[in-house]
Amino acid sequence: MGSSLEQISLIMQLRKHGIHDTRVLRAMELVPREKFVEEAFIDQAYADTALPIACGQTISQPYIVAFMTQSLGPEPGDTVLEIGTGSGYQAAVLSHLCREVLTIERYKELQKSALKQFDKLGISNVTTIIGDGWIGWPPNAPYDRIIVTAAAPEAPKALLDQLKEGGRMVIPLGETRETQQLVQIEKTVDGLEQKELLPVRFVPLVKGRVKRG
Ligand code: SAH
Repeated sequence: MGSSLEQISLIMQLRKHGIHDTRVLRAMELVPREKFVEEAFIDQAYADTALPIACGQTISQPYIVAFMTQSLGPEPGDTVLEIGTGSGYQAAVLSHLCREVLTIERYKELQKSALKQFDKLGISNVTTIIGDGWIGWPPNAPYDRIIVTAAAPEAPKALLDQLKEGGRMVIPLGETRETQQLVQIEKTVDGLEQKELLPVRFVPLVKGRVKRG
């Protein structure tokens, strides 16, 4: 897939800002972000900024996607669970770095459009699930890596339970939008080890009913 000049310049910017993992940079280069943004924002697809998508949600800023992916550190044989499919962009990036991605979304409309893009791009190792991220997806647990792309006041217990020993979770935590911190949680034999990485602003991980519409 050919990269545009704008895309190359975004990758260079990511490197300058500390994204040093060459596998992550390569994955960012392999995914055309313009396929995951709304028609009206296509000219901003390679600007380093979050953009609105359907259902009042957002596609994350490329730097945050790269930083979260680098912090997650998926290995080629890993199964990764993502909470918050949104546009599907983060899942598409992960698809190039691990064996399998399972991604959960509460809006059917977002799931459908993400799935359409995966098909068009020939991405076949991402499974989309309509469900509640607070509950996770027990049938395929435990997961090597779990990435949550919506903010919660605390890490959902179900997700911690579904994380493999030796596994890692990356999740934005905070009571309010102003106080969110991206946190890395490692599950070791001795328990959970938590580390704050970066202040962030994500939409909330909503509690309650799945949106079928
Ligand atoms: N990863 C996305 C960004 C997602 S924005 C991307 O790359 O574009 C966060 C997403 O989480 C939204 O689509 C929102 O609908 C979803 N979400 C919020 N609460 C949820 C929940 N409890 N279960 C599943 N998805 C949820």
